Amino acid sequence: MARKLIDCREFPSQTNCTLTIAGEEDEVLRAAALHATDVHGEKDTPELRAMLRQALKDEGGGVRAGPSAAEREQPAPH
Ligand SMILES: [Zn+2]
Repeated sequence: MARKLIDCREFPSQTNCTLTIAGEEDEVLRAAALHATDVHGEKDTPELRAMLRQALKDEGGGVRAGPSAAEREQPAPH
């Protein structure tokens, strides 16, 4: 089962939190909900869970955008 990843930097917050949580989906959701209520003063509601679920990413292999390493290594014309 693919591991999931959630990055707190993607959520607006006053604390500039940089926490990243990775694990299986259930684990990440649970830890993220606890973290959100503990650190960010959120309420653990179905809405919060839904928001967290949407923010989940696949860990590794799930990279979509951005140039590949090969593309980046080409010298820029000058
Ligand atoms: Zn956080």
